[in-house]
Amino acid sequence: MINKLLLLNKKKIEKKVKKGKIKTLDYGHHKKDLSLYVHIPFCDLICPYCDFNKYANVDHMIVDFTSALSAEIKSVSEKFKNYSIKSIFFGGGTPSYLDEYSLNNIYEQINSSYDIDPKVEFSIEVNPTDLNEKKLKLYESIGVNRISLGGQSFEDEILIKLGRNHNSKDLETSLNILQDSYIKNINLDLIFGVPDQTIEHWKKTLDKFLSYSLPHLSAYCLTFEPKTKYFRDLKLNKIISPPENLLVKMFNYNTKTLPKSNYEQYEISNWAQKSFKSKHNLRYWQMKNYRGFGPGASSHVEGTRTKNIRSLKSYIKVLMKEEITEDSFIQETNKNTFEDTMSEYIMLNLRLSDGISHQKFFQRFGYRFEVRFENIISELKKASLFETNDKYSKLTNNGKLVSDEISRKLLQEIN
Ligand code: SF4
Repeated sequence: MINKLLLLNKKKIEKKVKKGKIKTLDYGHHKKDLSLYVHIPFCDLICPYCDFNKYANVDHMIVDFTSALSAEIKSVSEKFKNYSIKSIFFGGGTPSYLDEYSLNNIYEQINSSYDIDPKVEFSIEVNPTDLNEKKLKLYESIGVNRISLGGQSFEDEILIKLGRNHNSKDLETSLNILQDSYIKNINLDLIFGVPDQTIEHWKKTLDKFLSYSLPHLSAYCLTFEPKTKYFRDLKLNKIISPPENLLVKMFNYNTKTLPKSNYEQYEISNWAQKSFKSKHNLRYWQMKNYRGFGPGASSHVEGTRTKNIRSLKSYIKVLMKEEITEDSFIQETNKNTFEDTMSEYIMLNLRLSDGISHQKFFQRFGYRFEVRFENIISELKKASLFETNDKYSKLTNNGKLVSDEISRKLLQEIN
């Protein structure tokens, strides 16, 4: 009976569409948006500053990892059948370290399990030594339309300090290979604030970047993360952290130079020319839904954050079993409270050039941001770290240099 009614209703709608009374044949089956992150944890060498979940010298695990990853991708696909995939990001580790066969298998599993939007942004992280014409052809053939190149520096001295497995010539060769590709959406990752790096080193690297006219730059300030070799070396005085005033000079060189070549600082570390902002990363910062696959990968779906098992060995073991449930490979689940969501919203939006929209904040949390945080805002404004108008509150250039401390101050007020 219900089916009959639905059919009658459908026919009525179709008639109205034919007569031009309504425009679409949308029966309310609108799909939600989702991004996919795929974590490939293999690296050729371990860089001393890196705190990602990565492994070197375990090539014998690649085949099993690929099967485990495919099993995870397939196992949750039913749950996401009403979602449309807006962006896919292969990150790591080093996704370009994977051979063509493994990469193709993973892609095929995604393609056969999810509804991918034809306008999807599909990115892959690539290390300069891995790139060659054959790999590039594969990326193009599976629909990759954005490449993020882990260049880090054009100075050999700095690349050695960073423990990278490439030199500046490798980086330039890979950029030349990319220039012949029809993938035009290319990001270069660069690092400043490396021990012993001078302002001249950084200026040369940034100027070299500009000579390639790439549409996107991620310029990260090096941080000394616990559990890294750099952190231990710092504690033992084997390396020295660059002085604050040098970091300010480097950051200011970016903010002075890049806008002249039409780059917009749409996030503290990210610069893009018109229409080349990373859709995938924007979705993280805007707290949209994403599902992460692979060991240690995080997900954020409908207000719940989860984290997969971090150990590569355990991840493979659990996913090679016949019966797989999400509980078996998810290590942490946190349903965000109202306060968690507000804290995250502030922290992430302050990193964006638009800052916090007063209207959106009010709609989401029922508070006026500029009133709720009035005292701190006035303190920060006096110190020239914050600016507000009737629509937005955002960090000034000086504020961007201490964004973490500012976020912490605001979050203390919430908790
Ligand atoms: S290549 Fe990237 S992921 Fe691998 S160790 Fe170096 S920084 Fe970390």
